Amino acid sequence: MNSPADPLAALPLRDDLRGMSPYGAPQLQVRVALNTNENTHPVPQDVVEAIARRVGEAAGALNRYPDRDFTDLREALAGYLGHGLTAENLWAANGSNEILQQLLQAFGGPGRSVLSFAPTYSMYPLLALGTGTKYIAGVRAEDFSLTAESAARQVREHAPDVVFLCSPNNPTGTALGLDVVEAVYAAGEFHDMVVVVDEAYAEFARAGTPSALTLLPGRARLVVTRTMSKAFALAGARLGYFAADPRLADAMRLVRLPYHLSTVTQATALAALEHHASLLATVADVKRQRDRIVSELSRLGLDPAPSDSNFVFFACGSDAHAMWQGLLDEGVLVRDVGIPGHLRVTAGTEEETTAFLDAVSCYLGRS
Ligand code: PMP
Repeated sequence: MNSPADPLAALPLRDDLRGMSPYGAPQLQVRVALNTNENTHPVPQDVVEAIARRVGEAAGALNRYPDRDFTDLREALAGYLGHGLTAENLWAANGSNEILQQLLQAFGGPGRSVLSFAPTYSMYPLLALGTGTKYIAGVRAEDFSLTAESAARQVREHAPDVVFLCSPNNPTGTALGLDVVEAVYAAGEFHDMVVVVDEAYAEFARAGTPSALTLLPGRARLVVTRTMSKAFALAGARLGYFAADPRLADAMRLVRLPYHLSTVTQATALAALEHHASLLATVADVKRQRDRIVSELSRLGLDPAPSDSNFVFFACGSDAHAMWQGLLDEGVLVRDVGIPGHLRVTAGTEEETTAFLDAVSCYLGRS
């Protein structure tokens, strides 16, 4: 039911959208914003120039629709990922959120279901809702880990049409073992289940954490999604993509809007891929700051989860909201992900990380 204060109450909305709030972290004006897992390093100057050049060249043709099949971009993305992938294995859209939405449009929908393992990326239930797909929240162990055996058992129990595995997982930060992906895929084999591994943060993984890309050969219903929003420091460009069997990539044409990837987006992404070494140079620094946060928070008596991503999820005592507010009072915005006793912070630049750690020390000293 709508509350009387709901400004949308008078609209003839779909019943299942009534009373819902839109997704979105607060975009507050603060000194240090570490709440949305962006790469806080600015885009390097050589990449800025390359993007401006490419977009400038493309601008003259903006009277025409873009290359609908974004062939050059798919080739460049395949080249970046390696693993023997070719353009036919690749698909792209406006952010990996749109990728996930298109996957549900094609393989979910009314009468179908998607399973993921909570706590996980909070957009999954909303993407399910928007596409009329039933959302099933599977469970993790108390320490937020997920074993192959537990995941496979839950797949057999619910027999969903699609599974979303977030690895490294948002908000907890830890990657899944490939044995979990293999077990989930095998458990869903008998009913042709599609398994999507959301690797938005893969480039930040610790050494020895292999990508699910290595599992693609021989698995026609496995999809590995990536984004340029995190490691590539290009959240504003809106470019997500996936690698899968060519037939599955081809199926996306059934649900994408015509010309969904603008000429400007394609030009930007191509320039970024040409300069990926320069863009990805920030990843090493982000990982250093991430590891610094984990060790410093432990030293301060808090309990951070092992992180393969550009953020750290940590247990902060009983009143997470009080700490969130305390840090904000110091000009540092982190994310209260709604899990009691926990907060999530994005690893920023060295200065931002120092500001965060100082604010934590200050808060703990006061409380
Ligand atoms: N997957 C995960 C796990 C994420 O955390 C995010 C961004 N917060 C996304 C997908 C979507 O990213 P984008 O649409 O910017 O590619």
